[in-house]
Amino acid sequence: MSTPFQAALEAGDLAAIRACPKADLHIHAIMGGCREFVRERLGLDVAPLDGVLGSMDEMHAWVDAQSQGCFRDAAGRAVAFEATFVQARNDGVTRLEVGSDVWEITLHDHSAQSVWSMLTTAHANGGPQIDWIPQMSFSRHCPVRALDYWMAPLLELGRFLTLDLSGDELIQPIEVFAPLYRRAKRAGLRLKAHVGEWGTADDVWRAVEVLELDEVQHGIAAADSPQVMRMLANAGVRLNLCPTSNLKLGRVARLEDHPIRRLYDAGVRVTVNTDDPLMFGATVSQEFLNLFQAGVMSAAELDEIRLEGLR
Ligand SMILES: [Zn+2]
Repeated sequence: MSTPFQAALEAGDLAAIRACPKADLHIHAIMGGCREFVRERLGLDVAPLDGVLGSMDEMHAWVDAQSQGCFRDAAGRAVAFEATFVQARNDGVTRLEVGSDVWEITLHDHSAQSVWSMLTTAHANGGPQIDWIPQMSFSRHCPVRALDYWMAPLLELGRFLTLDLSGDELIQPIEVFAPLYRRAKRAGLRLKAHVGEWGTADDVWRAVEVLELDEVQHGIAAADSPQVMRMLANAGVRLNLCPTSNLKLGRVARLEDHPIRRLYDAGVRVTVNTDDPLMFGATVSQEFLNLFQAGVMSAAELDEIRLEGLR
């Protein structure tokens, strides 16, 4: 017998999919918000990306042009965070992992408490019923010494539960981040990093080993290597995937061929997420429906993946 979520997928009923609990474990707040909310609060209308971009540089240029500097200061970023909770709430997301880049502490006079207040206010106003997992993250282009300096007071606060690393995968070798990851691990954080979106299957496994990752953001390149998929499955490392992002950044040519199928079949734990819904135009509910309608996964498999995200 099918569950309400499976029945909603089979009926193509987006409202019913929205009504089912879901997680979003891979989302960036600046392009993660509700379009209407951002328009009301900032007078900024961000239409979803039309077409396909070819690089992270093109993506950053697109974001800069669309955001018109609105998210550069603390006030604008506070709106972006609240908009992210609103977007998640509207889509029926009940578990959301999102948070600040550590450099953002420079916008708050280096006060970790002030960063924390901004985030908790966004949560309280935007979606207090959402089970929020506070994340801190590193931008991969930042010098390690600076990341270390910014991270220290945020770690000391004892509130953040996970660590992520994002940005241009090829700009600095993964090894340089290892000491910072050790420190975060000692503080009890769950460890994640963006890898295998632009890089290779070997890059994915190397990052897992060097940084001792619990989860990987994207990691789709792992599907090119049966050996790496086997190692990920055996180690129980979870991949937080974002299919529409992969299409819009030209990492996957057709949704029908999305690597989620191969990863799932190899026993790798996967979840379905949005990455940047304001930019890519798809909510978690739409991501699930798209995968079902493209014939990539069955309703029962997608339900299992949904529950994996809520675990
Ligand atoms: Zn991402």
